[in-house]
Amino acid sequence: MKNLATRDREIIWHPYTQMQTAALPIGIVRGEGSLLYAESGDVYLDAVSSWWVNIHGHSHPYIAEKIAQQVKTLDHVIFAGFTHQPAVELAEKLLTILPQNQRRIFYSDNGSTAVEVALKMAIQYWENAGTPKRRIIAFRDSYHGDTFGAMSVSSRSAFTQPFVQYLFEVDFLDVPVVGKEQLVLSQIEEILKNNAVAAFIFEPLLLGTAGMVMYQPAILDELLEICQKHNVITIADEVMTGFGRTGRNFATDYLKNKPDIMCFSKGLTGGVMALGVTSCTAAIYEAFLSDNPGKTFFHGHSFTANPIACATALASLDLFVEDSCQNNIKRICQQHEQFRAQIAHHPILKECRQLGTVLALEFNAGETSYFNNIRQKLYQFALDNQVILRPLGNIIYVMPPYCTTNAQLAQIYQVVSGMLTLMAEN
Ligand SMILES: *Cc1c(COP(=O)(O)O)cnc(C)c1O
Repeated sequence: MKNLATRDREIIWHPYTQMQTAALPIGIVRGEGSLLYAESGDVYLDAVSSWWVNIHGHSHPYIAEKIAQQVKTLDHVIFAGFTHQPAVELAEKLLTILPQNQRRIFYSDNGSTAVEVALKMAIQYWENAGTPKRRIIAFRDSYHGDTFGAMSVSSRSAFTQPFVQYLFEVDFLDVPVVGKEQLVLSQIEEILKNNAVAAFIFEPLLLGTAGMVMYQPAILDELLEICQKHNVITIADEVMTGFGRTGRNFATDYLKNKPDIMCFSKGLTGGVMALGVTSCTAAIYEAFLSDNPGKTFFHGHSFTANPIACATALASLDLFVEDSCQNNIKRICQQHEQFRAQIAHHPILKECRQLGTVLALEFNAGETSYFNNIRQKLYQFALDNQVILRPLGNIIYVMPPYCTTNAQLAQIYQVVSGMLTLMAEN
């Protein structure tokens, strides 16, 4: 019998993968806690939470049990004209931990669809109000997903290049990293002077795909205040930052001003099932209430509010609010801080930054093509040491499931230190 990798290579097309040159994928047969067990017998420490989604560890028995119960009770039901317990209960529970102004829950399938829903809500809000506005503001380096609307409000890059004529125009702001705040304030004032802007969409405090780029709550609070003053709907894309990643439940918990619309996925189900949520204020919701059927929000997916996915999210939330999970988040924040203090002044590093459970090291490597060669080496080096760390450009980041033990963190840090040595030698 051929192994998984070989059978895969004959028929499967992988995401973000140049299939001609890519190494064979690693077949994984089992997961437990922060560990992934490979077909070959190798065991890997999942330091990237399986693409930023996993928060309680793999195949958690409590989540598995709740999924089994749900699938035996109700697997799926059309969500137009029908409802079910997991969807209702999840909406109730989410609204108790979301910012107070969030009053309605709209379900979809993933992060990109949660963003599509948010953009369509914002655009149709102004349409329904009889004052259509066309422009959207976003951060230049942001990432909001891979569907066309989400791509449109994301950074223009090699990834979006073939589609660029098909993307709608967006007014981009620089990311207001420390030192750039005044520039960004003047940029937004300029845009608002010349345009009728429908919405401002942003990754709050932490831009993941941009390379774990971080900025301060104070400047985001200012941007939100300016938007509110100009009647611009604000959309927080918390697909990555939600559910404890930043050290608080949500990145927007660091803010005084709250967004009108919020997007969630990834950690929402503990990273176990595909589910998207877009929440909004009462004002947004009410703009769609009308005797005129044309004002309806005509959006949905076959698997909208899938009961198994909702039950999974409920199980994940049960674990998330427990003291042991909250303490684990704090513990990882502290461990990251201690390690950061040790390496922050390494000469090969341009910057070492942290927000909550996310630690990112940016290398001094200025030239990207040079770095691309070393990137593969670093990735392989981590794998050879049984840790999954995927460099993003010239950045290495650590984003572990919250159940990752201190001993496992020490193993990750040791590999990161090894990467620094490897880089210094190159
Ligand atoms: C991952 C991500 C998305 C897209 O989510 P998918 O489920 O991969 O479609 C959107 N926004 C942010 C901030 C993300 O990190």
